[in-house]
Amino acid sequence: MEQTTTAQSVWQKLTHKDPVIIAGPCSAETELQVLETVIRLAKTGKVDMIRAGIWKPRTKPGNFEGVGAEGLPWLQKAKEITGLPYTVEVATGKHVEDSLKHGVDILWIGARTTVNPFSIQEVADALAGVDIPVLVKNPINPDLDLWIGAIERLQKVGIKQIGVIHRGFSNYGDTEFRNAPMWHIPIELKRRMPDLPIICDPSHICGRRDILLETAQKAADLDYDGLMIESHEDPDKAWSDAKQQITPEQLGEMLGKIVWRHESSQKEEFLNALAKFREQINHIDDEVLTLLGNRMKISEKIGLYKKENNITILQTNRWNEILEKSIKKGEKLGLTKDFILHLLDAVHLESINRQNRVMNKHEE
Ligand code: PEP
Ligand code: MN
Repeated sequence: MEQTTTAQSVWQKLTHKDPVIIAGPCSAETELQVLETVIRLAKTGKVDMIRAGIWKPRTKPGNFEGVGAEGLPWLQKAKEITGLPYTVEVATGKHVEDSLKHGVDILWIGARTTVNPFSIQEVADALAGVDIPVLVKNPINPDLDLWIGAIERLQKVGIKQIGVIHRGFSNYGDTEFRNAPMWHIPIELKRRMPDLPIICDPSHICGRRDILLETAQKAADLDYDGLMIESHEDPDKAWSDAKQQITPEQLGEMLGKIVWRHESSQKEEFLNALAKFREQINHIDDEVLTLLGNRMKISEKIGLYKKENNITILQTNRWNEILEKSIKKGEKLGLTKDFILHLLDAVHLESINRQNRVMNKHEE
């Protein structure tokens, strides 16, 4: 079972397009639970690193708030037995100090800490002069600058190996996900900071087991560098996040199903085919834009006409009619309702703005 993974080999994989799998219980509960879970995870042969929450930030008091520093030797022991390095969540300077004393390999910063610049600064200050990789989870609110700000605070104290974990964003009301993935936010982060390794945490995005695989696959399709997934020796009995945890064996099976794709290929046949498709797409985009430009010119004419006749810009009935017709047509073309609504919303807004400009232009 002994493996020879180290923090540096995990980092090497993360930064070289070799997906890293971090797995372990939401919380370390007892020594036995940690050892049992980690040994079974190691047996799958598919896990690179162990995770476990030691200090748990809980929404309400009275819930299990973690075993504290007492759990760190359990992780050390699990590492000795299996050879797997481990990572824990830190939220204060003291957490950093305690974890470092117990040979932690990588630190991660939780979503509730990333939102708070004071906390991030405290963690960063505790890390000044320490050479350890740090993974920063997205803040619970969809604020890309706050996420980047946390990364910058760590960079400023000299942390060189920084990665991020996408765990979704809080949303109000019931949805399919516990935390809305809002994939466009991590995608934009990747565009702005292309060298930053990015890991997906489908467990906290989904909050349930049945959609973990499809969410993890989506991350793989979006060229993520790894996954952090919660796994517990007896998930239903977990002291935190029971609904989203899976057994080490279920995790092994799930990981076997994920297809990791490459961002590019050198195969000539593939490159030629891709170039042709892209050319077609460029032409179509061009046509779509020309058509939209024409559509807006007509909107302006309508604006003038409405002005002359003193008619309002927004006419709800007409708008509903367009929406209904387009959703029906979209369905026939294989376009989702969600897509049509987003697209038409943007078109409608632009059209209103154009009409508004025409209507309220005062002759000099
Ligand atoms: C966790 O990983 O168990 C955790 C508390 O995550 P998050 O910070 O994403 O809520
Ligand atoms: Mn959890």
